[in-house]
Amino acid sequence: MHTLEKIDYELGDTDFIPEYARVPLSTALSYLPEKVIDFVIEKCVFVSLEKDYRGIHLSLSDFRLKSKQNIILLSNVLWFENKKAITFVVAHEVAHAYLRHGFVSINDTNPAVNIKRERSADKQAIQWLQPHFTGSFKRYVYKSWQLQSGKKSN
Ligand SMILES: [Zn+2]
Repeated sequence: MHTLEKIDYELGDTDFIPEYARVPLSTALSYLPEKVIDFVIEKCVFVSLEKDYRGIHLSLSDFRLKSKQNIILLSNVLWFENKKAITFVVAHEVAHAYLRHGFVSINDTNPAVNIKRERSADKQAIQWLQPHFTGSFKRYVYKSWQLQSGKKSN
């Protein structure tokens, strides 16, 4: 069983996120199935930069990152959303990693492949989270992001 404290502790060495995002991130991850949390702890690094960072460097050869295969970049404005939104976005990005979607460039121009990946990540995230939240996730899924923002979300 993964408690919030355990998740935070396990990720604490390798994450690069603001202090105030630690609890929201651990909380979001705690809704995922146990085997997925294990996957995240072993294979994923989270990065979320605040405005006052001009840049950072992560060395992938660092021993703490040796088993990591996925870097998940999260906007620092995400942490000011509600819990359901934070949890869905984290679960969606973890789903890409878990489903081995590989590297997708922000400038990826193959919309068909992109839409397929986004839909499957959304579907997986919903499957993981549905038992824990009431109501639908409709406003967080790929298509509605596109409609709201008028640009591609990843
Ligand atoms: Zn996505």
